[in-house]
Amino acid sequence: MNDVMRLPVTEVKGVGEETAKQLKNLGIHDVGELIEHFPFRYEDYKLKDLHEVKHEERVTVIGVVQSEPSVRYYGKKKNRLSVRLLVNQILITVTFFNRAFLKSQLTVGSEVTITGKWDQHRMTIAGSEFRKGKEEREQSIEPIYSVSGKLTSKSLKKYIYQALKQYSSYIPDPLPSDILEEYKLPGKKEAIHRLHYPPNAVSVKHARRRMVYEEFLFFQLKMQAFRRSNREQQVGQALNLSQADIDAFINSLSFSLTSAQQRVVSEIQNDLRAAYRMNRLLQGDVGSGKTIVAAVSMYAVAKAGYQSALMVPTEILAEQHVASLKQVFEPIGIRVELLSGSVKGKKRKEKLEALENGDIHVVVGTHALIQEDVNFYKLGFVITDEQHRFGVEQRRILRDKGEHADVLFMTATPIPRTLAISVFGDMDVSIIDEMPAGRKAIETYWAKPDMLERVLAFTEKELVAGRQAYVICPLIEESEKLDVQNAIDVHMILQQHFKGHFKVGLMHGRLTSSEKETVMEEFSQNHSQILVSTTVVEVGVNVPNATVMIIYDAERFGLAQLHQLRGRVGRGEDQSYCILLADPKSEVGKERMRIMTETNDGFVLSERDLELRGPGDFFGAKQSGLPNFKIADVVHDYRALEVARQDAAKLISSNAFWSSPVYDHMRNYLETQGVFSGDKLD
Ligand code: ADP
Ligand code: MG
Repeated sequence: MNDVMRLPVTEVKGVGEETAKQLKNLGIHDVGELIEHFPFRYEDYKLKDLHEVKHEERVTVIGVVQSEPSVRYYGKKKNRLSVRLLVNQILITVTFFNRAFLKSQLTVGSEVTITGKWDQHRMTIAGSEFRKGKEEREQSIEPIYSVSGKLTSKSLKKYIYQALKQYSSYIPDPLPSDILEEYKLPGKKEAIHRLHYPPNAVSVKHARRRMVYEEFLFFQLKMQAFRRSNREQQVGQALNLSQADIDAFINSLSFSLTSAQQRVVSEIQNDLRAAYRMNRLLQGDVGSGKTIVAAVSMYAVAKAGYQSALMVPTEILAEQHVASLKQVFEPIGIRVELLSGSVKGKKRKEKLEALENGDIHVVVGTHALIQEDVNFYKLGFVITDEQHRFGVEQRRILRDKGEHADVLFMTATPIPRTLAISVFGDMDVSIIDEMPAGRKAIETYWAKPDMLERVLAFTEKELVAGRQAYVICPLIEESEKLDVQNAIDVHMILQQHFKGHFKVGLMHGRLTSSEKETVMEEFSQNHSQILVSTTVVEVGVNVPNATVMIIYDAERFGLAQLHQLRGRVGRGEDQSYCILLADPKSEVGKERMRIMTETNDGFVLSERDLELRGPGDFFGAKQSGLPNFKIADVVHDYRALEVARQDAAKLISSNAFWSSPVYDHMRNYLETQGVFSGDKLD
């Protein structure tokens, strides 16, 4: 590592303790981090012809004020100014938020220069900058930095420029010259300069390409080196599995495995048998049959004398897994138990004892599994279902309850390959890409909320035919802020509507677990025919007689989530339907509804969602688990990510990488990341 880059920011002239604190809030502690705080966008001051500007693009225009500006006030603090402007024969509106003070400068007949975002449909520029008169700049693009608190983009720029002035000759280049030549990338010092002092858009693009590649390459090197050292250290347990036993178990099932299931079962077995610790992600669309793959693996582990733990995010799901696992395991003497928040007192104590002395072979539970007093006799295999809902820490705690337990993450959220390799780059990935035979494709329709009567009439037909329906709402109770349907209201309305004919249940997260259990039980026994629910039924719930899924305010959900919800129907022999009640305002929103009606393939959906919304939204911001890249963007730059992944694999498996001084810097970097020191990051 280069020491100069690690100097504290206070070494930069003009940066005092107070500023250092503000920089710290942005994650900037040292000189290196300061000069690698790149602009998040560039303001383009080049004058443009409005005929050629695309919707939502940023523009700078010169125009003549046509009308007195009008200002509207919202409450005490907010206001919006709008003014008519003639730009090259085109009459447009310009708006400014909270800048009522500009009013006096926007006199009718005066010439002004405006920069902002162009709304093609409304012929409006949402202004971000205003200058009097005609102003064309020499440097047409300017960097804009993301800031927080008191720090402004302008002052941050000043500090970065000062840091570059003092230290730019010390910027090291970790990429060897053969890589730079191969991809025609600029050196690091030059790239950093161009990003902060952008000469033109093309130059910025090259500079960015260089930094993105570097960032991805190191990320991939780190992931792959972890994976490699995990394997070489042979820190896992090599389980002794009997193939004959496993085959017999599979043959005893009431159906035969799809070839995708067979493939994944043997991938998992290879890991279990090997001396390294398994760290595998199993992806399979809703209904693809992941549970039985887990069951076969747990069976093998039990036969080898070890225990398995299956951790799931909700109580409902835990109960369901226990019920279906008991069916296959109990007749052959494998004991399965539930451990969740609702298991208390004496019962819990008994189970904990049985776990500790090895009487229980398979335990299924919620986060109750990771409590301190839960101890295992010999935990060999840990599975988490819908793993992205658990935090990294929770997964680690469970894993560490066993000695070098093998770990399998199952997810029905079809993660696009581009994301899978970036988030789970240190894992092996198995995919079930085939549905059990005989499933009928779910028909999906998009209806506007004013078509509710027709939707209900349709639903009634299905109910009369003996089927059941789910109705999903985004919220539990009415909210003042959001005009969205809530479960309690909808429950009341539907009860009224179907009064005397069908029973309507209500499920949401505020019910106690025993209340939830009762509601779920009623629905699965067909004692209630309609279940109004929030998204608590999103994952795993299995009631094959339900054929209708109605989703209120569908535009508020991500595509991945809609797909999960839709997966609650289509689980039996009958034709099933999903109806999205939505009135999205934006083009993207409409497009998302259309995509839902066009495909049932979770992978296709997730790829499209990713294109439309970006990865944070795809998972829901909180649980994205995506690493924070300084400049790279896994969606936008996915090609670079793929190239970096391949290059990293090549480097890591070459002798030169581990011995040649050309790669010293790269190896040193990995060392600082703790790659060679044992436990992996996870
Ligand atoms: P998911 O992958 O969504 O967890 P499940 O494991 O719940 O899917 O399986 C969905 C349903 O399909 C279950 O009722 C299961 O018994 C059934 N199933 C799984 N594999 C097969 C198969 N190979 N053939 C027929 N049915 C299967
Ligand atoms: Mg499942």
